Amino acid sequence: MVNIKRIGVFTSGGDAPGMNACIRAVVRTALYEKLSVTGIYQGYQGMLDGNFTEMTSRSVSNIIQLGGTILKTARCLEFKTKEGRAKAYENVKAAGIDALVAIGGDGTFTGADFFSKEYDIPVICIPGTIDNDLYGSDFTLGYDTATNTVIEAIDKIRDTAASHERLFFIEVMGRDSGCIALNAGIAGGAEAILLPEKETAIDELIAHLSAADGRGKKSSSIVIVAEGDQNGGAYNVAKKVKEKFDYYDTKVSILGHLQRGGSPSSFDRVLASRLGFAAVKELLKGNNRMTVGVRGNEVVTTPLEEAINNKEYKLSSDMLELVQVLAI
Ligand code: ADP
Repeated sequence: MVNIKRIGVFTSGGDAPGMNACIRAVVRTALYEKLSVTGIYQGYQGMLDGNFTEMTSRSVSNIIQLGGTILKTARCLEFKTKEGRAKAYENVKAAGIDALVAIGGDGTFTGADFFSKEYDIPVICIPGTIDNDLYGSDFTLGYDTATNTVIEAIDKIRDTAASHERLFFIEVMGRDSGCIALNAGIAGGAEAILLPEKETAIDELIAHLSAADGRGKKSSSIVIVAEGDQNGGAYNVAKKVKEKFDYYDTKVSILGHLQRGGSPSSFDRVLASRLGFAAVKELLKGNNRMTVGVRGNEVVTTPLEEAINNKEYKLSSDMLELVQVLAI
């Protein structure tokens, strides 16, 4: 077991609201436990460049409410090579870092797994991505905030949809996961929700929309399309609907990167704080290559390999049914 004196913390992959709150929790828990902390800028790129900073309690003042990540993030191809990781290790060793906390997604977890196995350096990973598509936690950092951002956008678009009697197709993030689409769609009162996990036939969607119209619903029709929907995103869905059903005045709105930003919700701040705290505690217990997450309301650990190699289906059937029932 490594006698840990200094922890390195970094964020990597796509940024997500709550990452700063998590960095704060890692730094302050470690300092409380009399450990030193090095902040690694730009994820694995920073390890390769030796782009490090000493973290004090004051370095994380006033960041709990900030979106993005003060440690920056980057995609680093060189870290995928053995030579790249060797260079990273030289810098990590020279800085006296003897354990790591990595905050990021699937790719970040994979990199951490390789690095920890090759150099016997303990690592704990924290799931940070708005997509909520990681195994080992009911929720990932940033997902709740992103969903709330989408709801705000839906509410605003609904004003114009209702005023002009337009049909809006709103595309939200989620290449493999329909979590944002399903939850924001239900919370935003969408007419229909198209998800990567479930094929929706355009004819069925048209039948659904025209039946809704028969019930006098034309004035407020919102269809949520996850970017990974099997029809190819909101533009394609709108085009296919228009080709067969030229009744509506259709518009498309792609929400894009605005979903990644913003001040984290209370849920994400608390989750980030709990997981940052837990990650340091796990390292101190002598644990290695684990992720920390929440199940129910409990903090849990999952072996990193298990988290990387498994997909978790997070859509519940009652919610899929809800969409149909509440749209009548
Ligand atoms: P995310 O962590 O959000 O899934 P990426 O997939 O971009 O984002 O991964 C973040 C970084 O993790 C990559 O830029 C790369 O440096 C590292 N990484 C990803 N996959 C691997 C891999 N197979 N081996 C080593 N490092 C990897």
